[in-house]
Amino acid sequence: MRKKIVAGNWKMNKTVGEAVALVEGLKLELANVVGVEAVVCPPFTALKTVSDLIADTEIKLGSQNMSSEDDGAYTGEVSHGMLKELFVKYVILGHSERREYYKETDYWINKKVKKALEKNLRPIVCVGEKLEDREAGKTEAVVEAQVRGSLADITAEQFEDVVVAYEPVWAIGTGKTATAEQAQDVHKFIRGIIADMVGQEAADGLRIQYGGSMKPANAAELMSQPDIDGGLIGGAALDAASFAGIVNAGM
Ligand code: PEP
Repeated sequence: MRKKIVAGNWKMNKTVGEAVALVEGLKLELANVVGVEAVVCPPFTALKTVSDLIADTEIKLGSQNMSSEDDGAYTGEVSHGMLKELFVKYVILGHSERREYYKETDYWINKKVKKALEKNLRPIVCVGEKLEDREAGKTEAVVEAQVRGSLADITAEQFEDVVVAYEPVWAIGTGKTATAEQAQDVHKFIRGIIADMVGQEAADGLRIQYGGSMKPANAAELMSQPDIDGGLIGGAALDAASFAGIVNAGM
């Protein structure tokens, strides 16, 4: 039985002061959650503060990116060691905004995924097609290339620590959600690719989140699909009550 995982990607939002207010709200709202893993992914500048605030709770900490290197002359980058020192457990890798605006390729995402796993951090690996891909009937081809590229050379055993997030780019921040059926089809397709890569058992254990305008109102239907194991949440994660509403919908 796969435990559902709902992660909030705060993106470039929340100063430290604003992060404190949001986390205080989340601590109240999420106090009675059972059976769903809730993860918050603040910007780097708020990680330490949020880490301290959630230390006595079940809420887990994630970052929004991580360097593929250990340390050294990489201006602006943040390493696995720096994240682990702050008790970060998850790292979002290959988000579509990083692919689009910072030209991250599957090759680099794969390097980061390998580094994260080697250092006992759990990658949340994002894949998803653009609107033009979907309209051209290329959803499966695009998603398959991203899955195979960003997760190349990961062993079945390592997959236990991997989370995949299927995020159709056309649904991110647009208010347009994939229907539960559209999302389920792609999730099932992804699980099939993983089975082909590393075997059915690892594929059956893999948690695949849906991301793209998930809200309390549509979360239960999406997460009731057989291959949807939670959500990666952008906009709705910036408000304690709406993020908690989504987490509760997974219970
Ligand atoms: C995201 O960026 O990962 C995301 C799913 O954003 P939103 O929920 O705002 O669509």
